[in-house]
Amino acid sequence: MRVIEKISDLKAAITAQRKAGKSIGLVPTMGFLHEGHISLVEASRRDNDITVMSIFVNPAQFGVNEDFDKYPKDIEGDCRKAEEAGTDIIFAPTAAEMYPQGYGTYVDVNGITNRMCGRSRPGHFKGVATVVTKLFNIVQPDKAYFGQKDAQQAVVIKKLVHELNMNIDIEVCPIVREKDGLAMSSRNVYLSPEERKAALVLSAALAKAERLINEGERDARKIHALIENEICGESLADIDYIAVVDAGTLEEIKLLKGSIMAAVAVRFGKTRLIDNIILEVR
Ligand code: AMP
Repeated sequence: MRVIEKISDLKAAITAQRKAGKSIGLVPTMGFLHEGHISLVEASRRDNDITVMSIFVNPAQFGVNEDFDKYPKDIEGDCRKAEEAGTDIIFAPTAAEMYPQGYGTYVDVNGITNRMCGRSRPGHFKGVATVVTKLFNIVQPDKAYFGQKDAQQAVVIKKLVHELNMNIDIEVCPIVREKDGLAMSSRNVYLSPEERKAALVLSAALAKAERLINEGERDARKIHALIENEICGESLADIDYIAVVDAGTLEEIKLLKGSIMAAVAVRFGKTRLIDNIILEVR
């Protein structure tokens, strides 16, 4: 496995692989890898000859009062895990390499970014869309892999690729969870033991909503209320948003029909966690 920091070196390595006729998969991450990230590498390896993982804590997607400075890092551990999983190339640039002095070009996906996480984190998706566009241009992958864990992000990336006419397939992989249901996240290390326990309310509330829908409930407001009640029952939980939306457009719905998403963002102390379910409803 090669670890590359310079854009020019990565482009040269990619050109050589392309000349040899190899297909390329890209797994963008911010590092501090867990099994969720590894599942994306595994999906990429199934489809492509070469898997490139980027590890970059992207300053452009963090708000001023967010956790950019203390975002967890472990580049040595990440390299070991990525190599064990069969990653071929790690691209770990510095912020100055990605955003040199005077940098001024940003990608803004409108509409779907002003709700849910976009409402609570203004500018977040502009940072995400910009860095992902840069990574796509640098690597020019055949296919790129994202997690359903960040469901709104996946919808934003699909829209970006479609509207900017990029020839890249986007695969969204299922949420990998801890045994007790908590969605894996690099941010879970911030949780105190009490908060870690309390955070189980997210997957439990979503699982309960799924059961109710499977039993025939089609009123989105009732599902919203159920999730809210469950989460409010946990004193350490501070709700940012609960959304019951169309999974493709992220628009609020009244009637559950077709591909629907129930998504939550909740603070436990200083840590903001997200989780969601996507269901096909007849
Ligand atoms: P991050 O490093 O948190 O920016 O995540 C990098 C990629 O891994 C994103 O596409 C995430 O959606 C995905 N990811 C993060 N956590 C999980 C998880 N628990 N299951 C599946 N994919 C995940």
